[in-house]
Amino acid sequence: KPIVLLFMGMAGSGKTTLVQRLNLELNSQGTKSYYVNLDPAVKSVPFAANIDIRDTVNYKEVMKQYELGPNGAIMTSLNLFATRFDQVLSILEKRAPDLEYVLVDTPGQIEVFTWSASGAIITEALASSFPTLLVYVVDTPRTSSPTTFMSNMLYACSILYKTRLPIVLTFNKTDILSHTFAVDWMEDFEKFQEGLDRQGEDMGYMSTLIRSMSLVLDEFYKTLRKVGVSAASGDGIDVFFRAVDEAAEEFARDYLPDMLARK
Ligand code: GDP
Ligand code: MG
Repeated sequence: KPIVLLFMGMAGSGKTTLVQRLNLELNSQGTKSYYVNLDPAVKSVPFAANIDIRDTVNYKEVMKQYELGPNGAIMTSLNLFATRFDQVLSILEKRAPDLEYVLVDTPGQIEVFTWSASGAIITEALASSFPTLLVYVVDTPRTSSPTTFMSNMLYACSILYKTRLPIVLTFNKTDILSHTFAVDWMEDFEKFQEGLDRQGEDMGYMSTLIRSMSLVLDEFYKTLRKVGVSAASGDGIDVFFRAVDEAAEEFARDYLPDMLARK
């Protein structure tokens, strides 16, 4: 069975560019994979999407017809698509024997997918048919301040608790800034504290809050795999796939039995 990778992360973190890069790499290795675009508002998809939400729903029309703003229209488009997701599943089931990976790109704005019923429906449908992992993409240069870093990690943490799927934390754009600072912060609580102290501004009660939250996050960090990549240059892609394969084993070992037990 192919491994399903769900790409999530803040708008602009590089989800789509990363899928494009992986598409290139997998093709050149001759690894059979399948691509799904779930972003109804993207102008052009830079990878060879086998299934494209835009073939089924017209985002601009949804906006007009339901008199919605951009975010509402993206949400509604995804809802409309989710009602027909069984068709996507049956296509995937049919192709499954030939495939190693299925890559699913989600809408630019993260909350559209993570905080919507349709996002949950799609995620669950995939996870009950295939080993499914979350690839949480982080814009490394934009999370170099300790407080931003922590908000981003809290978001990843909330997704983990919501979906209960294995996460591969993927620090992107390492061509601009190496992700070693992030690994240091996650592996050594003292270093994160030093980072906070260096940030310098007097945050009053916030700094106490942050300090206690980072202790909570410490537990979360232990449960995930972290890798650094550059979607732009292709750096770190081999390490990425190793983490993905390990996380897929974890899915089979820990998540699947748990999921079946909850059913
Ligand atoms: P998405 O909203 O998460 O799908 O993000 P996109 O893939 O559309 O990328 C957002 C911006 O980041 C684009 O301008 C990309 O060219 C840029 N970008 C993506 N990955 C990288 C990377 O690895 N390095 C650099 N320097 N820029 C990147
Ligand atoms: Mg995108």
